[in-house]
Amino acid sequence: MKAENKDRLLLRGGTVVDPQKQTTRRADVLVVGGCIEKVETSIPAAEGTEVLDCRGKHIAPGFVDMHCHLREPGREDEETIASGTAAALAGGFTRVCPMPNTEPAVDTEAQVRYQTRRAVEAGFARVHPVGCCTKARHGKELAEIGSMVEAGAVAFSDDGSPVSDAQVMRRVLEYCKAFDVPVISHCEVRELVEGYANEGRVSTRLGLKAGPDVAESAQAARDVLLAEFTRARLHIAHVSARATVDIVRWAKARGVQVTAETCPHYFTLTEDALASFDANYKVNPPLRSGDDRRAVVAGLADGTIDVIATDHAPHLKGEKDAEFDAAPPGIIGFETAFSLGYEKLVLGRVLSLADYVARLTVVPRRILNLPAAAVTAGSEAELVVLDLKAEWKYEPSGVLSLSRNSPFLGSTMRGRVSAVLLGERLFRL
Ligand SMILES: [Zn+2]
Ligand SMILES: [Zn+2]
Repeated sequence: MKAENKDRLLLRGGTVVDPQKQTTRRADVLVVGGCIEKVETSIPAAEGTEVLDCRGKHIAPGFVDMHCHLREPGREDEETIASGTAAALAGGFTRVCPMPNTEPAVDTEAQVRYQTRRAVEAGFARVHPVGCCTKARHGKELAEIGSMVEAGAVAFSDDGSPVSDAQVMRRVLEYCKAFDVPVISHCEVRELVEGYANEGRVSTRLGLKAGPDVAESAQAARDVLLAEFTRARLHIAHVSARATVDIVRWAKARGVQVTAETCPHYFTLTEDALASFDANYKVNPPLRSGDDRRAVVAGLADGTIDVIATDHAPHLKGEKDAEFDAAPPGIIGFETAFSLGYEKLVLGRVLSLADYVARLTVVPRRILNLPAAAVTAGSEAELVVLDLKAEWKYEPSGVLSLSRNSPFLGSTMRGRVSAVLLGERLFRL
C-alpha cells in the first residue's frame, strides 16, 4: 500500500455510490485540502490538480468496522494498532472499533485515550474504541463507563466473554442508556459450550468439542428482553444461528432498540469446512449449518441483521497450528470482507450494491453516533475507490495484518478496494 499527500485531487470518471439515498450516479469528485469541494457530472482539471482515473470504478464513503480486535496493548506479536489499521485501510475501512479484550483490558479512560492516540500516530484508519462493560471483563463490577464515553469510547462490550450475570447486564444497559451508547453483546451461555464446533452431526462425526446454537440464541433472547425492560440500546455481535436471527426479528417487531451484525464467514462458510481440521475455520461463535447460513443471509436481506462487521481476530501461526480443539478461535477479516460480501450478497442478488455499502457505512455510523457518511460537497474526504470487475488472489505475501490466520488464503476474490482517500492522504493498493 502506497501513501501520498494530495492537495488537489480530481477523482475522474467514476460512479458515486450514495448509500444514504441508495443510488448510484456517474460523477467526478474534486477534493481540495482534504475536503470534497465539488461532485459534478464533469469537472475540468485546473492547473495543479492531480487526476485519479476512476473510469470503470465506484466511489463510496469509507467503511466502518464496528467489531475487530487489534491486540494492542498486550499481544503486539499478533497485531498492533498500526498494522491493524493499515490492514483495515487496505480493506476499505477508514474507521474501526477495536474490542476491549486486550491485555490489560480497555476498562479506563486512560486506555481509551491510549488506543486512540496510537491510531492517530500510525496515520491509517481511525480508531473508535469499544470499552469494557465490566472491570477487567470479569463480569462482576461495572467499568468506568461515563469517563470512557468522555474519552471517546463509542460502545461497550465484554466481547470474547458474555456478561453472564443478568443483574450486571441490566446495570450496564441502564448506564449505557444514560450516555446514549449501545451495549454490544457477545452472546454465549458459557455453561453450554464445550468447544467451538457447532454441536450436531458434523461435530459428532469429527469428534470435536462443541457448543450448540442455543448457547448463542438463549443469551440473545435474554438480552433483547433486558433491552426492552431498560429501554436501552442493544447490539448483538456476530449472529451465526437461525434462532438468533428469529429472536432479533421478533424483538424489532416489538419495538426493542436492538441492532445486529454478522461477519462474512457466517454467510459464506458452514460447519462442513471443519472436515479439514484446519483451525483457520475455528471461530467463536462457530460456523454452523447450511440452514443457519441461509437464515443469516435472509436476515441480511430483510434488514433484521443491520451491519456487516469483520470480527478481525489475529492469531499467530504457531497457535493456529495446534490441533483444532486446542487452537484459539478467530480469523483475520479486514482485507477480505468487502470482496466476500460483494460476491455473496451483491453478485448473489441478496442486496443491491448501495444497500450492501450502507451495511458497511451508514448503518454502523448511525448505531455508534459517528458523523454521517457522504460523498457530497463540504464533507471531509473519506472515500474508497472500488474496482468491482477485479479478480484477485488472496495471497499471504499481500497481507498487511501481522497475522495470517484466514481460511480464505489462496482463494480468488471478486471486487476489490483499489484506493482509499482519507483527508489529504491517498492510499493506493
Ligand atoms: Zn465475540
Ligand atoms: Zn470479537
